[in-house]
Amino acid sequence: MGPIEQPRPMTPRPFRIETVKQETSNVFTWTLRAQKEGDTLAFQPGQFTMLYLFGVGEVPISISGDAEASGDLIHTIRAAGTVTQAMQQKQAGDLVGVRGPFGNAWPIEEAEGCDVVLAVGGLGLAPMRPTLYHILRHRERYKRVYLLYGARTPSDILYPEELRAWSDSGKIDVRITVDVGMDGWTGEVGLVTDLIRDIQLDPYHCVSMICGPEIMMHFTARALFHRRIAPQHIHVSMERSMRCATGWCGHCQLGPKFICKDGPVFDYPTIQAWLHKRER
Ligand SMILES: Cc1cc2nc3c(=O)[nH]c(=O)nc-3n(C[C@H](O)[C@H](O)[C@H](O)COP(=O)(O)OP(=O)(O)OC[C@H]3O[C@@H](n4cnc5c(N)ncnc54)[C@H](O)[C@@H]3O)c2cc1C
Repeated sequence: MGPIEQPRPMTPRPFRIETVKQETSNVFTWTLRAQKEGDTLAFQPGQFTMLYLFGVGEVPISISGDAEASGDLIHTIRAAGTVTQAMQQKQAGDLVGVRGPFGNAWPIEEAEGCDVVLAVGGLGLAPMRPTLYHILRHRERYKRVYLLYGARTPSDILYPEELRAWSDSGKIDVRITVDVGMDGWTGEVGLVTDLIRDIQLDPYHCVSMICGPEIMMHFTARALFHRRIAPQHIHVSMERSMRCATGWCGHCQLGPKFICKDGPVFDYPTIQAWLHKRER
């Protein structure tokens, strides 16, 4: 699937915050509704929007809702700095500007007929959630499906009810690990890479999608190489700060690629050399 062309990509469209759900101490989910009737925002799993807080600034945020459910736009946001902390102060009824969607999609079609390994760390579950919704809707198109999820602590686990429902459905093999097991946690303690050892997969028919901190994506990819998954079947989603999101300003350029328009999803061989380049 190619990117969806935007007729006026630099013009923010007004959306109203319908609901705010506090997910963890510093992560919240907004449900946004277009103010102009019929101005729904079609997107593909993996794409992001530029969210504009009037008078404060604009940041790229992945869409974390269901691409095949018409209606509201869902974003899960971590209060990290100037803009996102100001976003956390906003309430239902407030207006924000939305540009996009931008960027490419996770390779959900390439993965058809294959085992699928979705490996996520921390907030990386949010950009991956549209892929999970897609797989659940079209489960018959995929073979074994694993969600390997690493969180810092049990209280940092995102969407716990949905994780339980996906696991209970038997459609997705959900495996969770935490860095620090506190709060009566009886599950796995360790790294996402540890979870890769025990899964069953057909290395010649397997597609993996990884989303999380770069160091996590690097070591997860290496663990998958050890399971003989070819690098070109391993995909990662990259993050860099952005301005225009349309490939003009060069702010998110990484080597020959623009994260905003060539990515954010890249196959591993394409991005490998640039993974550890720090943002300046
Ligand atoms: C394609 C894409 C998708 C994204 N999806 C999401 C999402 O779904 N949810 C979400 O919460 N965030 C997401 N981000 C990250 C988000 O854009 C940044 O957290 C945000 O721009 C920070 O802006 P700020 O003004 O709040 O913080 P700033 O004031 O700009 O930064 C505050 C601190 O956070 C650090 N920081 C800024 N950006 C990042 C980053 N990307 N990664 C790690 N540290 C950073 C800075 O170095 C600084 O120390 C995404 C980024 C990209 C490029």
